[in-house]
Amino acid sequence: MSIVKKVFDQIDASWTEEVHFLQKLGRFPSTLGNEAAIQQFVADKYKELGLNTDVFIPDEEEIKKIPGYGPHELPYEGRPVVVGKWETKGKPIGKSLILQGHIDVVSAEPLRLWDVDPWAAKIEGDRMYGRGICDMKAGVAALIYAVQAIKDAGIELGADLFVQSVYEEEVTGNGAVATIAKGYKADACLIPEPFGPNAVASQIGVLLMKVRVTGSGAHVLGANQAVNAIEKAYVLIEELKKYEYELNYIRAKHPSFQEVDHPLNVNIGVIQGGDWASTVPADCMFEARVGFYPDIDPKHVINEITDRLMKVADNDPWLCNMKPEISFYGHHAWGVDLDRDHDIFKCLKKAHSKVHREPMEYLSVTATVDTAAYNINGIPATCYGPAGKNIHAPNEWVDLPSVKECTKVYAAYILDWCGVRNESEFLEDKPKLIKA
Ligand SMILES: [Zn+2]
Repeated sequence: MSIVKKVFDQIDASWTEEVHFLQKLGRFPSTLGNEAAIQQFVADKYKELGLNTDVFIPDEEEIKKIPGYGPHELPYEGRPVVVGKWETKGKPIGKSLILQGHIDVVSAEPLRLWDVDPWAAKIEGDRMYGRGICDMKAGVAALIYAVQAIKDAGIELGADLFVQSVYEEEVTGNGAVATIAKGYKADACLIPEPFGPNAVASQIGVLLMKVRVTGSGAHVLGANQAVNAIEKAYVLIEELKKYEYELNYIRAKHPSFQEVDHPLNVNIGVIQGGDWASTVPADCMFEARVGFYPDIDPKHVINEITDRLMKVADNDPWLCNMKPEISFYGHHAWGVDLDRDHDIFKCLKKAHSKVHREPMEYLSVTATVDTAAYNINGIPATCYGPAGKNIHAPNEWVDLPSVKECTKVYAAYILDWCGVRNESEFLEDKPKLIKA
């Protein structure tokens, strides 16, 4: 029996267990700042697999030095990152690999729009529902069970394998940055984001920003006039929407995004202001997420946006005196544009073909994921993952058969990329000599 077949059989045999494991992951409400319990659960699983497990708190001074770091608002105390190391014995015969998943999930609000409990990991037919089930606890389970199947088959890998569980993928990318700062590096990194069984070759860069606008109620400048902070925030929001239009329809498209209709989204994601319908609001804060093409330094985008908004403020009779406060927090993520002939894709294509008949496709995605941190630090990283729907929306679900397929593709990928040290043990029995 071939090695791959043997491992696939293991994956089939442990499928029910993998589904239960995914349900357990889904029942942790691991939103921002609430990752400790699930990280402990993942660390225990790594230890059960025999991985040399490092549970550590990101070192603020060290992560700040790493490209891809994003300024964060919550402290890291009590919020561990977990790395399971499977170090090869002796001189490597293959290439080292990082398998990384994020266990943080976005908020399940508004809860009233869900048809199921977002934290129950309910199964209906081939689907499992829940916040974060698709993005990306299913991928996390698939990575772990691919490794478990390889372990259970008695295989010794030919290069180091690091299985990493991080957080803050949804806000700063600092979980991935923390593993790099701690010295975990490899020849490639595979991340099971739920883009389906396709390889992500290009992705945009992302910045998060916050703008605070003050109206008249809070300042002596407004004593003889009522200036509504929410309406003044709109002046700036309109400029951001103009900027978005210009990015997508006036400036040249990046070659890797030619087929994408509207690659660069400027999303106004939060707005807060006022506290009484009959009071002129004195304060308004809004947050936005801004996309930009690969090869553009996030610092350049920060300067461009700040200049534009300040120019608009200068031309406004109120904002010229009461300047908006603009800050950039969270993601300062570079875009990614990998060569589609890179070894990482050749290997992924081969692994994919062991499970799927249809050829693997390449994607240019309009979001950022943790691959940004790896690529900017010289570790080629791509995403390949399960299929599902409604990520970051009510009634998120993952397609369970696609999770099983991914588990197999990851296993085939690991075997090929890292190599198998004890391959000879798995060769077909040679025909025996028959003595006369
Ligand atoms: Zn994700």
